[in-house]
Amino acid sequence: MSKHLSKYLHRTMDKQAGIEHAFHRTKIVATVGPACDTYDKLLELVKAGVNVFRLNFSHGSHEDKLKIIEHIRNINSTEPYNIAILGDLQGPKLRVGEIEHNALPVVPGDVLTFTNEKLVGTKERIYVSYPNLHEDVKVGNIIMIDDGKIEVKVISIERNNDVKVEVIMGGVISSKKGINLPDTKISLPALTDKDLEDLEFIIEQKLDWVALSFVRSVKDIVILRSKLDEKKSKTKIIAKIEKPEALTNIRDIIVESDAIMVARGDLGVELPVERIPLIQKQLVRKCIHRAKPVIVATQMMESMIDRSKPNRSEITDVANAVLEGADAVMLSGETATGAHPALVVETMRKIIMEVESTEYRFNREEDLKPQAHSPSFLSDAICYNACKIARDVNAEALVGMTQSGYTAFILSSYRPKSTLHIFSKERTLINQLSLSWGVRAFYYDEEESLDDIIEDQIEILKERGFLKQGDTVVSTGSTPVHLHLPTNVLKITKVD
Ligand code: ATP
Ligand code: MG
Ligand code: MG
Repeated sequence: MSKHLSKYLHRTMDKQAGIEHAFHRTKIVATVGPACDTYDKLLELVKAGVNVFRLNFSHGSHEDKLKIIEHIRNINSTEPYNIAILGDLQGPKLRVGEIEHNALPVVPGDVLTFTNEKLVGTKERIYVSYPNLHEDVKVGNIIMIDDGKIEVKVISIERNNDVKVEVIMGGVISSKKGINLPDTKISLPALTDKDLEDLEFIIEQKLDWVALSFVRSVKDIVILRSKLDEKKSKTKIIAKIEKPEALTNIRDIIVESDAIMVARGDLGVELPVERIPLIQKQLVRKCIHRAKPVIVATQMMESMIDRSKPNRSEITDVANAVLEGADAVMLSGETATGAHPALVVETMRKIIMEVESTEYRFNREEDLKPQAHSPSFLSDAICYNACKIARDVNAEALVGMTQSGYTAFILSSYRPKSTLHIFSKERTLINQLSLSWGVRAFYYDEEESLDDIIEDQIEILKERGFLKQGDTVVSTGSTPVHLHLPTNVLKITKVD
């Protein structure tokens, strides 16, 4: 055993926490907003099961976000968690401005006026964040507000460039709600000026993940990647799939991105809603094939924004996402502005754990066999067989090491039955892996012999309450250690 071992054991509390969350493999992403932005509330959410906090750059100021980031980082350093932070860029999205009293009820037949003059919205006039609106829409076009909940039709375009619309489907318009023009191609770049400012902040603050909204082609990802590379940023990219255009070149988008979000809110406005379920299934399957984490998002527990129990259909929606094999499920308004943020997370975790506790197994190994033409064929083969052996010998744990993250993502993609523990000396990666199905990541930076490393890792897991005497462990690693080669070793250990 290495003499340095004690330095990895200072977090004694996690024995408890580790056991508490031992089987919640499908991760939970929660959006932070006014309902949960204090240290205590955030910690409560983490204890309820949150793995990743999402900061939506469509709402709130950088100043507010700085405080939240500080809280989350404090939680990570004082509690036994590695919560990831995801910065979600607004992208080319149109929105209404502030609305008077944050609520404007409208009914069919009402006439509203959209303007590009900045003002607080009322029944008279509502600001829309798109100066070309009057040029891009035609009389008769449909405009959707708030993920399509409210629908209006253009009746006239005024001389002062205001756009008059008639309400077709009523509801309550509140501040900053999104607007979609399903009949129109809008002419905004993938990264707007606001996005570039927000990206700078995200890079400076070293957030773990950045999500790009309304990805239309792989070029959008390449542009974002080059901006990150320029600044030597380690932030990883999530492509939000919510545009029909993205679906037509989805393969390249998945390959270029580090993860994918099935953003069902806008997707359901941009495409006929009935297409969402199958698109979700296909996206999840494609991402698992490429070992890229995939998040299912929007309205998963929507009714809990004000109620204390979810709808039956929402329970089934979460359960289905787990059964499909999503890496993570996401909460938006439920935690950002809802009445019961912690209760929603807890309810979601219970649904996940119930599904995961059944005999249902993914058994995806057959169609995920390592491909001889892949550049990572040999290490893929080790990881694939590590999962297989772990299952054959009924191992309690699978242990992997990674520097690039690849071994972690690939081991996770086989959705192994044994719990998955990943060691890395890349601190950023430890948090980033919080998004990945089943992964529990640990910091470890010794580089002596592989024997010592494997022994240390098992000892750490034992000390921290994840393993006990008599357990079987399947470890992967690489030798010679100092060469940092891709995974090339597989070892079985009986814990003593
Ligand atoms: P997107 O299209 O990016 O999903 P959204 O406006 O639908 O944006 P979500 O993050 O999906 O927002 O949902 C969060 C909900 O919480 C929204 O209804 C939003 O209006 C509300 N909210 C208010 N303040 C905040 C805040 N500071 N951060 C996040 N959400 C906020
Ligand atoms: Mg939304
Ligand atoms: Mg969106």
